[in-house]
Amino acid sequence: MTHRFLTAEAVVSALRPIEPLLLSRPHEARRAAAEALRVFPGDVAYAVKVCDRPDLLEALAEAGIRHFDVASIHEIRTVQAVVPEAVLHYMNPVKRLDHMAEAYGRGVRTFAFDCERELDKIAEATGDDRGILPVVRIAVPNDRAKLPLDGKFGCDGAEASRLLRLAATRGYRVGITFHVGSQCEDAEAYFVATEMACAAALDAGVVPAMVDIGGGFPTAFRGDEPSFVACVAAARRALDHRFPHYRGVFQCEPGRLLAAPAASVLVRVELRKGTTLHINDGYYGLLGELKWMPSVHPIRLVRPNAPSRIAAAAFALHGPTCDSIDTMDGPYPLPDDVCEGDWIEIELTGAYSSVLASRFNGFPETEVLVLGEMRAVRVAA
Ligand SMILES: *Cc1c(COP(=O)(O)O)cnc(C)c1O
Repeated sequence: MTHRFLTAEAVVSALRPIEPLLLSRPHEARRAAAEALRVFPGDVAYAVKVCDRPDLLEALAEAGIRHFDVASIHEIRTVQAVVPEAVLHYMNPVKRLDHMAEAYGRGVRTFAFDCERELDKIAEATGDDRGILPVVRIAVPNDRAKLPLDGKFGCDGAEASRLLRLAATRGYRVGITFHVGSQCEDAEAYFVATEMACAAALDAGVVPAMVDIGGGFPTAFRGDEPSFVACVAAARRALDHRFPHYRGVFQCEPGRLLAAPAASVLVRVELRKGTTLHINDGYYGLLGELKWMPSVHPIRLVRPNAPSRIAAAAFALHGPTCDSIDTMDGPYPLPDDVCEGDWIEIELTGAYSSVLASRFNGFPETEVLVLGEMRAVRVAA
């Protein structure tokens, strides 16, 4: 059977889906990728952990994305199967030796680290090839991000300096990278972080072969978040200040920015209790991010032939599992007549959704419906 749906309304009218659906919009991924490539004066490496579905990877590659930030050997195999010409950067600061050796065999040449032992491991796994690019991960403030990612990886400035010098002394070209935290809502955070990275390199007397400003670029959930242009300009200002006429690789690793607009989640209301809606997907499925970033994602009632004119009230969403973590309290505004059997679309949920879905409570794998295409496809999450 072939379908051609452009909207959630069309999906509901035709299919009345009783299972949750991820509505994939590859054209939005292509648009986001083309825009990032147009704006960024360097290499745009998509952060694969955010969404590794083949339909998305293909769309990004079609738009011209060639670089990918990968965090595991599994992501490396996945990307190479879909985009054979991909240039991969293994940016997880802690990696298994055999995984690094396989990655090296598969052509990966960029490896992140934030301590001396990991640099030794990288050397061992890559047969002491001095042509690879070790990249120091420096810790930077994450306090402007909706989802801070600090506390696990990244060394302080003094240690970053020491590691840069150490790698340079061993004969490597060496890069520096950081992450300001996901959904970073202050462009100046990129200025501060790039300043710290460049200062560490200057202290080490090393011109970095790569300055990689990581991810964190915000999705326009509300519309007033800083633009990618502003974040990049802030980073570039710091780089140009510290290293005028910088000739190395300038790279970014957007994840959310490219993936979020490329899907929404369509759910059905199974029961209403006051201002709580029990829906057929939740924290353990596609909506885990709603727990950590409440009241951020746009949400709307999908009633194709009878749009509600009732004023909005504030609702909490509860998922289908029997675990009490499975609540997304928002609050989310929906027309006050929303009821059992209604469909709801949660928008801008292409990032950190299908990759996080579990089979907890025996729920099946995510069903994906590709919109704006001539066919409906089912893809495992
Ligand atoms: C998660 C991650 C990214 C992507 O972050 P977003 O906030 O989704 O853009 C980029 N680089 C690294 C090293 C990451 O861990």
